[in-house]
Amino acid sequence: MSRKSEDIAIYIENQESVANRYVMKCFTVTMLVYMLAFVLNLLGIFVIEQGLMRKAFIPSLLIYIFVCIITKIVSLSNPRLKYFILFHIMLFFTVTGVFITYHVVLVSLLPFLYAALYSSKKVMRYVYILTVFSTIAIVYGGYYFGLCDANMVLLTTKKAQDYIAGAQFTLTEVNTNPYLSLMLFFVIPRCLIYIAFMSVCSSLFHIVSGSLEKAKLTAELEKAKIEAENANRAKTDFLAKMSHEIRTPINAILGMNEMILRESEELSVREYATDVKNSSVMLLSIVNEILDASKIESGKMELVPCNYEMGSLLNDIYNMISVKAKEKNLELIFDVDPNIPSEYFGDDKRIRQVLLNLLTNAVKYTERGAVILKVCCKTEGKNAVLQYSVMDTGIGIRPEDINKIYESFQRLDVSRNRNVEGTGLGMNIVQQLLGLMGSELKIESEYEKGSEFSFEIIQELVNAEPLGDFREKLFRAAREEAYRTSYIAPNARILVVDDYKMNLKVFKNLLKQTQMQVVTAESGAECLEMLQKQSFDLIFLDHMMPGMDGIETLHAIRENALCVNVPIIMLTANAMGNGEKYIEEGFHDFLSKPILPDKLDKMILRYLPEQMITTCTNSEAPIREEACQEAVPFRLAVLNELRKELSEINFETGLITCNGDEDFYLELLQDFVQLSIKEELVRYFEESDYENYNIRIHAFKNSAYSIGAKPMGDLAYEMERCTKKGFPKEIGMLQQDLFEQYDKVCLRHNEIKGIRVDVKTK
Ligand code: ADP
Repeated sequence: MSRKSEDIAIYIENQESVANRYVMKCFTVTMLVYMLAFVLNLLGIFVIEQGLMRKAFIPSLLIYIFVCIITKIVSLSNPRLKYFILFHIMLFFTVTGVFITYHVVLVSLLPFLYAALYSSKKVMRYVYILTVFSTIAIVYGGYYFGLCDANMVLLTTKKAQDYIAGAQFTLTEVNTNPYLSLMLFFVIPRCLIYIAFMSVCSSLFHIVSGSLEKAKLTAELEKAKIEAENANRAKTDFLAKMSHEIRTPINAILGMNEMILRESEELSVREYATDVKNSSVMLLSIVNEILDASKIESGKMELVPCNYEMGSLLNDIYNMISVKAKEKNLELIFDVDPNIPSEYFGDDKRIRQVLLNLLTNAVKYTERGAVILKVCCKTEGKNAVLQYSVMDTGIGIRPEDINKIYESFQRLDVSRNRNVEGTGLGMNIVQQLLGLMGSELKIESEYEKGSEFSFEIIQELVNAEPLGDFREKLFRAAREEAYRTSYIAPNARILVVDDYKMNLKVFKNLLKQTQMQVVTAESGAECLEMLQKQSFDLIFLDHMMPGMDGIETLHAIRENALCVNVPIIMLTANAMGNGEKYIEEGFHDFLSKPILPDKLDKMILRYLPEQMITTCTNSEAPIREEACQEAVPFRLAVLNELRKELSEINFETGLITCNGDEDFYLELLQDFVQLSIKEELVRYFEESDYENYNIRIHAFKNSAYSIGAKPMGDLAYEMERCTKKGFPKEIGMLQQDLFEQYDKVCLRHNEIKGIRVDVKTK
């Protein structure tokens, strides 16, 4: 609620209590005065002689009018009562008409007052009925028995007047001074009743004007609320739209920047580009957070439940967080109960988001020690209650700050966290997402010691089979869910030309399922030789090759009019930005390395003559030949061991290049560690043969990317750039780094293989 609305609400409350107090006072005074006047009046009926009453009628009316005028003058001095005066005059005429006595008005109004005072509709309903009956009773009673007012006696039936005259008794004092008795029983009560009546009217006026004011203020409040809501909605919409709009150019910046990173030869430009990349990634994550927060706020965030596997959820999170934890030298522990069920029904995307936010914070706000994710589960019938807890040994949160943590854009301990990037939106998103999922976050923290964030989520159980070691399980799944090709082409003949044996191996392996005849050549010259003797339906030519490169080979093919009309596709690691260049040179298309199975399939389906292709449904799709089952546990053990030990390699990425074939992957890894890269590079470097150095390092880069060794691939890429520019100093330094990484991988690989081989042979 906005400030203005809050003020109005408080004002209304105050007004109401003031009015209630006022009305209550009026009510009490009115009752007392009325009772007194009524008693006197009744007494007057039986004491004052009717002839005298008739005589006194005009003077008493005059006195009455005089009191009215005085009261009006008094009330005029109070401007708040100006409406009251109008009301007052109206009543004056009504009352002097003497059709309705004061009693009627009072008796009808008092219960109304009471009802209004307690603002009870139920009471009001009863009061209505009561009022109707009392009005009828008093009017009729007054008419027939003259019991209401001294004046009324004169207007009642003759019978009633006679009855009253007969019942009259004599008070000594009164009879000696009839004017005194008139005064006492007639004029004074009449004035008193009038004052009481005024008090009722005034109360009524207060109620009416109070409720009018209240209605006005409520309307204002409502208006302010609507305005605030509209403004908030406009803000949320604006943020959502802007974030959406901003994302497109940021992605463009990232794309273009990637091209600069890949193509620029200037070290300083690449450094700037790296900064641009880091800032853009940061900006993108902020924009995404804003988008999420505004989506939740506007109620557009909906849960999309589906079946999900706990293993893949945890693995994704592990992969993302482990990089960050490693950068800060923090221990990352996933303490996952192996007995928890493996499959659930729920919105895994949102759970992932919550856990990623909590774990990212834990890493961000921890300088040394560990970050731990603990997961356990209780089953309750068809449901599972998952308990997640993220602990860290970080800076902790002060007790007085814990409640502020959920406020949007609120960051704690600002002076201390000045250098930690963040928007202060993360925890707000976490809280809201958990709210959407019917859960809430519990925070326990000790300042300077660490924090624990925990929550419980109820999910439907899908598969109660125990999860086991989730990392291992996922690894197996990646292998089993390898990409399946959707076609076979047993009659197609394909030539692949690459100077690097490992690349040829990868290529052949990727096409194994398609049953195509894949012929390989290791140089441009060998390619030309083959083309003179054999025919092919499709040719893949690597760009960077020693001797004759891919482009030169293509020109030679065209000059010699070899295999005219056969599509030739360039294999390149520099696809970004150079694509057009290859097409201009005469290539039909280009494919970037590392080659991904689906991209290769698409390319083949596009260029291979249709009659050669037999498409097959998913179930018919050929499955990669299963490796010897006996060897599986051994292979898995080696891979798992490697995976734990070698942070330089992302095995999942490597497995994708090998179409999920672990055997083949291990073979590639073996080839990789046996490359004579060090000797060759050192030799070329010493001879200052940068041309061959470049070709070698280029090929090595592709091999590194193929096995999932991205950091090594990036280093090689950097070296490739430097060789092109001829920066011997930089090459020397980078070479040192590369060799260190490479040696480490070779050493660990050989050790683990050695241990495993020992175990196996025992
Ligand atoms: P930010 O983008 O600043 O990290 P969050 O909403 O995720 O925003 O967190 C809000 C604030 O809560 C942070 O600025 C930080 O001060 C505090 N905080 C969050 N997680 C932790 C943690 N694990 N340890 C210490 N402080 C934390």
